[in-house]
Amino acid sequence: MSASSPTSTVVIGAGAIGAAIAHELQKRGRSVTLIDRDAPGSGASFGNMASIAVTEFMPVARPSTWKQIPGWMMDPEGPIRVSPRYMPRLVPWFARFLAASRPSVVRRLETAGAALCDRALADTKALMNEIGIGEQLSKTGCLSLYANEVEFQADRERIDMLDRFGFDYDVLDTAAIRRLEPEITKDITKAVLLPDNRTLADPEQFVLRLVDRFLALGGSVRRANVTGFSRSDRISVVRLNNDEVLQADDVVLCAGAYTARLSQQLDEPMPLETERGYHTQIAAPGISLAHSIIWPAKAFMVSPTAGGIRVGGTVEMAGLDATPDYRRAKITVRRALEALPNLKVADSSEWMGHRPAFPDTIPVMSASAKTPGVFYATGHGHLGLTYAATCAHLMGDLIIGGEPAVDMKPYRVDRF
Ligand SMILES: Cc1cc2nc3c(=O)[nH]c(=O)nc-3n(C[C@H](O)[C@H](O)[C@H](O)COP(=O)(O)OP(=O)(O)OC[C@H]3O[C@@H](n4cnc5c(N)ncnc54)[C@H](O)[C@@H]3O)c2cc1C
Repeated sequence: MSASSPTSTVVIGAGAIGAAIAHELQKRGRSVTLIDRDAPGSGASFGNMASIAVTEFMPVARPSTWKQIPGWMMDPEGPIRVSPRYMPRLVPWFARFLAASRPSVVRRLETAGAALCDRALADTKALMNEIGIGEQLSKTGCLSLYANEVEFQADRERIDMLDRFGFDYDVLDTAAIRRLEPEITKDITKAVLLPDNRTLADPEQFVLRLVDRFLALGGSVRRANVTGFSRSDRISVVRLNNDEVLQADDVVLCAGAYTARLSQQLDEPMPLETERGYHTQIAAPGISLAHSIIWPAKAFMVSPTAGGIRVGGTVEMAGLDATPDYRRAKITVRRALEALPNLKVADSSEWMGHRPAFPDTIPVMSASAKTPGVFYATGHGHLGLTYAATCAHLMGDLIIGGEPAVDMKPYRVDRF
């Protein structure tokens, strides 16, 4: 490293996480190259449900989840689908998922998620203002729907958790629901308003604007596939396709669900899986919504976006290479129609993306435990958009030096 020139840093992956980190590091004086094999923002960050979902940090692995898994396995339309062909590869991941669902561990994981969610809305607002798209964050929250008291009580665990961590919510009756969203069916008798869960007009734009600002600050973007690394006592080189090499003082791996393929090459395997998710973007929905909507019992979400209404959700465990099964997208649309009977599914498109997911639901935001100069930021699961701004601050402190605003131990790469 030369004392006079800025430290060169390569950030791999131009999704919401990599773009936010590259922007942050460039702003703090690094000379950053952001590499992606595709156009920025075209991975999971392209088609997510656009929600800054600060109340959705409940770890997926918990005792109550296990009771539901046999039912989900039997139901081809259930909220989680495991491909039988992929099942053998998932066994070690599920073993860790089981270990993470012990009650004492769950409490710890909730605290780690809440620490990030607590900062997420303020950090996202500040970042969106900084990159000139502050007006693209909605001012209204999210409605969590319940057809009856049984469904509401089944979601009690989540609501109790919000109480424990002091997140705001309001319980609404039918009249109040219809005042807020007249399009919601009268069959919904109860809802919880989550005022701090906000929606971005377009999550892809969030990444593209971050990249624009990053470039304006002097950063550079390369389109290339990262194929490997060279290191001696620390990282020194990032290898690209076409045998090109990039010298690097520091390297940050933010390749989403593909990060484990790269960390493997640094002898640092990680139990990262893809929780595949689908959306249907409806350009001419025939209705408008002010709030995003979730219906926990039906496991779908509806978000009002700039390009119309986006319907999505469900988890499919089938690995990185299987072709999309768009029946999953159609299931969520059918369920959305139960909540929004006037929704027209005209002029629509379907999409599948890879949520990067660790078995304990908590991301890795960490220095490598093996190679000095290597850092990881991945595994943000269902909350990568929500966490992006906060993650960028924390990684900036970790990489450049500074006191991170939260205890970083829970997010270490060597915790598994
Ligand atoms: C259906 C669905 C709904 C979701 N809804 C929400 C939501 O409402 N709110 C929320 O907070 N989160 C949501 N998420 C999760 C969120 O989208 C992800 O957590 C987030 O996008 C992950 O961002 P990332 O930057 O880590 O990964 P990505 O956006 O996938 O970016 C990784 C990038 O790395 C690149 N890459 C990979 N390997 C290489 C390589 N070898 N060389 C070069 N480049 C490489 C890829 O091309 C890609 O562009 C949702 C996800 C899905 C699928």
